Amino acid sequence: MPKNTIKYCKICGKKSIKTIYDYGLQPICNRYIVKPFREEYIYPLVLCQCQSCATMQLSDTLPISEVVPRFDWVKYNEPEQHLDNFAESIYKVANLNFQSKVYGLTYKDSTILKRLETKCETVKVNFINDSSNLDTGVEHLLATISFDKIKDFVKKNGCADVVIARHILEHTQNPHQFLKCIKELVKPSGYIVFEVPDCERAINSKDYNMIWEEHVLYFTKQTLFRLFKIGSLEVESFVNYPYDLENVLAVITKKNNKHSDYLIQDDISKELNRGIEYGDSFIDICEKVKGYITTLRQNLGRLVFWGAGHIACTFINLMGISNEIDCVIDDHPSKKGFLMPLSHLPIRGSDILTDMDIKICILAINPEIEKKLISKFQSYLDRGGKFLSIYPSSNLWIMNNILK
Ligand SMILES: [Zn+2]
Repeated sequence: MPKNTIKYCKICGKKSIKTIYDYGLQPICNRYIVKPFREEYIYPLVLCQCQSCATMQLSDTLPISEVVPRFDWVKYNEPEQHLDNFAESIYKVANLNFQSKVYGLTYKDSTILKRLETKCETVKVNFINDSSNLDTGVEHLLATISFDKIKDFVKKNGCADVVIARHILEHTQNPHQFLKCIKELVKPSGYIVFEVPDCERAINSKDYNMIWEEHVLYFTKQTLFRLFKIGSLEVESFVNYPYDLENVLAVITKKNNKHSDYLIQDDISKELNRGIEYGDSFIDICEKVKGYITTLRQNLGRLVFWGAGHIACTFINLMGISNEIDCVIDDHPSKKGFLMPLSHLPIRGSDILTDMDIKICILAINPEIEKKLISKFQSYLDRGGKFLSIYPSSNLWIMNNILK
């Protein structure tokens, strides 16, 4: 078992890391189980916060090679409704034209490249083989990227005017090394475009679905800007795109070798206090959820989850409620038949919701699509079935019943 070795903040490098909460031994959420009797990889999930720069981060215990998905069908959807607007901003801010070159790092960047491909040259960066159309996963890229490989790539392909890095920064165990690598990909006057999830709402609302071993860093606008300041990236444009699930911090930065004065002065103690509150509230919320679900099960009968992704995995394991759940529903053709990590709950198709005598279905899906999903199961509702959600932004949020 790897020991918790974090000493220095991954953002500011100071030796001022404090544990917010130790969630104990947890599995890797993308490691679905085929044979339950085989030994399962588990690791200590510990959320920390730097007392100097306030960035929330995981302790550095999990090797990146362990996080790389074992199944090629594991993909994560990122919010995209803002991309027309964001691609237009990138085009304008970076002053792009037909001669300009834009690089994307992973499959998550393909949809921005697509929006720009008729206006400039777009290239998918790829260190794994020579196929330029290969869609690289985030963890795969982070496991293979190195300064030497970047230099080789630049030698062959030249530098870009813009590099797109959507939803990858929060996955980096060594963000400064990562920034050093991607800075090498852009021209001296070039731009690097980032998107990261905004964790502020989740931290304020004590939403523990936020925690995921693939997210090493939990940014708010303030902590993200501090990273850019230390990493000598100048913020040229910033938009916080609002979403039900979590907002997106979308930033266009300029490669810059001097420190930027763009940053606003802010109150670190406010961020530190909400970090402490986030940690201190966990046991209370966990006990309330556990008590409520146990009562539901005793009074109503069978209970299932919907959505066999990392959020259901985290919720079930952190809240310690696997004994109260019959199975997890997911119609992803590759997931059916597997067992969920650690809880070993079976993953079943949605036909069981109409066939079996299930009374409670707890949704672990994006609240933006739950209405559509529910409308397909009128017969379940007609015979007294009830939907709840684990998301605070849903009208069906489970805590609405617990806190009233
Ligand atoms: Zn720090």
